[in-house]
Amino acid sequence: MSGNITFTMIKPKAIADGNMGNIIAKITQGGFNIKALKLTRLTKDQARKFYAVHSERPFFEGLVSFMSSGPIVAAILEKEDAVLNYRNYIGATNPADAAAGSIRALYGTSIEANAVHGSDSDENAVNEGAFFFSEFERF
Ligand code: UDP
Ligand code: MG
Repeated sequence: MSGNITFTMIKPKAIADGNMGNIIAKITQGGFNIKALKLTRLTKDQARKFYAVHSERPFFEGLVSFMSSGPIVAAILEKEDAVLNYRNYIGATNPADAAAGSIRALYGTSIEANAVHGSDSDENAVNEGAFFFSEFERF
């Protein structure tokens, strides 16, 4: 499918810290067109399914608890080369290593609570978008 779509989540801690609006504004300022946007909350089972690729990692159960601990924002974003551009825009997984001015540097508080998710491939962008938005094929 398209290389112009990526999927993001604003994670619970960033929302609890009051940064939902700031992060949405920052996404828009980066030239990402918001195609779909939803405030929702993951059950533990949904979080396990979303992060299934990490199920053998030591941080998995903590991540599942964290991601289901409060509301999240899910969004589908459009830009040329969206996956790569957005990964660069959000910065490294660990906010301590993220480039100054990136979303994770600005709003992340730990490697787990790193403010946002960003898809790592076109295929995952489509699958992750479809995980949250049943009408995805119309985007
Ligand atoms: N994570 C964590 N501890 C780690 C590595 C990752 O809690 O040591 C969390 C973090 O929230 C990260 C998510 O697991 O965003 C998925 O990890 P991944 O390696 O896919 O990083 P990302 O693609 O989000 O940069
Ligand atoms: Mg990843």
